[in-house]
Amino acid sequence: MFKGKKNLIGIGAVLYFSVALVSCGGGISSKAANSPQDSVIWTDSLVTEATDTVPVLTGFLSKRWKDPVHIEVDTLHPISKDSLAKLVRVERRRIRDSVRLALDNKPKHVYFTFDDGPLLGSKAIDSIAKSRNIRINAFLVGKHAFMSKGLKRDYQRYYDNPLVECYNHSYTHANNKFTTFYSNPVGAFNDFEKNEEDLKLQHKIIRLPGRNIWIYDDVRRIDLQSGASTADMLYSNGYKIFGWDVEWKIHGLTGKPIQSVHEIYTRIRNYMNNKSSMEPNNVVLLMHDDMFQNKKGQQLLSSLIDTIQNNTDYKFEFMQDYPFRY
Ligand SMILES: [Zn+2]
Repeated sequence: MFKGKKNLIGIGAVLYFSVALVSCGGGISSKAANSPQDSVIWTDSLVTEATDTVPVLTGFLSKRWKDPVHIEVDTLHPISKDSLAKLVRVERRRIRDSVRLALDNKPKHVYFTFDDGPLLGSKAIDSIAKSRNIRINAFLVGKHAFMSKGLKRDYQRYYDNPLVECYNHSYTHANNKFTTFYSNPVGAFNDFEKNEEDLKLQHKIIRLPGRNIWIYDDVRRIDLQSGASTADMLYSNGYKIFGWDVEWKIHGLTGKPIQSVHEIYTRIRNYMNNKSSMEPNNVVLLMHDDMFQNKKGQQLLSSLIDTIQNNTDYKFEFMQDYPFRY
């Protein structure tokens, strides 16, 4: 199955210990990819050719990208700690280069996520999704849907659009007092449940207000400890919690972007190429509905979509399908 693994299994390892290395950097997301410690296995044999494996299983490349480096070292002829560290670095680079090449040949997925709707701007986002025929993701705040008839209609528009999937961003948005909100995990949990019921949400998918926290499958990454208990409670009750890789900010009223279309496009492309997103080949973009309340902002959104569609073969996806692993 794993050709390279044979080296590790078949040999009686004498010593097994970990070497912590400086991570390669590359934005917040690289933390997760680099977090497992590389390990060195001391064996009676010489340093063996390691892990040029054939990707046969789904998720093999993604796992290989994140996994620690395993190196076998001859215990009869030990080498210095420095040489060992260098060996691990070289080996990791070698593996990553080959995995990167393999992943580059696989499909790439981008997730447009819009938070805090329904708000002024939601209606335009809904129309743009239709006109460009792309899938988008709306993380909704129930309180907003019940603020006016207009916003209720905008929520309903999202809800009825097959290109939009509606997810949970809490009922009250923590009233924007995040630390207070998360200091009471049960209260916070109930707020998400109320949102799910009132908005008739079909998926157990959540983004926490004010926190970039991810908990799903085998991943758990916390940006701020306040929020962790709530997220864990949600996860143990069947929810997936998703954060984001890249955020785009536009001033809602003026439509003036903090990052231009070109900048945000380049950022998405770099995350995709460098495999520095939470999951290689999957990039999650965060925006907010109120960024697109004026024509200028709406044009920028259309222009970003056009740029991606004209220059890449990225697929626009629903968070429900996240992540695609190769
Ligand atoms: Zn929010």
